Amino acid sequence: MSEMWRLLRPDAVMALEDPKILSSMPRYVGILKGRFLPRFMVSRYVPVNWDLESSEGELWELHNRSLVEMESLMRDLDSGKIGHKEIGEPPERSLLHLKAKIGESLMAPCRLCERRCGADRLRGELGFCRVGREFKAHSCFDHMGEEPEVVPSFTVYG
Ligand code: SF4
Repeated sequence: MSEMWRLLRPDAVMALEDPKILSSMPRYVGILKGRFLPRFMVSRYVPVNWDLESSEGELWELHNRSLVEMESLMRDLDSGKIGHKEIGEPPERSLLHLKAKIGESLMAPCRLCERRCGADRLRGELGFCRVGREFKAHSCFDHMGEEPEVVPSFTVYG
């Protein structure tokens, strides 16, 4: 991410030192300052294996067990017990891959929004939202116009 936001939004830089923001969003501030890894990155380091035949329920059970492992790893990383450089290479299959796998299964029949219209998006069927297997993003960019404590925000418009 470009560091231009620091010039454009000095109030956002100051917000990172605000005691109220530090106490209410400690991980968020720590991530911006490079002290903590975001949760999705930590999930890449939790090895997970599942069978091709696993049901969605079994995938969720595995997911929930792996989350406990991830929380433990995250505590060790955040506290400095394990250094970011000591974490090694991410496994071939991780909790993040499992999340993607579950997300895919939620597309057929589709239950990805509260409408739960049940379209089989993996076969290209269009549901109520008219979005199929893939979608096009209209734009994505570092958003500088948000409240100071969440600038910059990476924004995607579909
Ligand atoms: S409206 Fe779209 S996102 Fe929602 S359930 Fe139907 S296909 Fe899925």
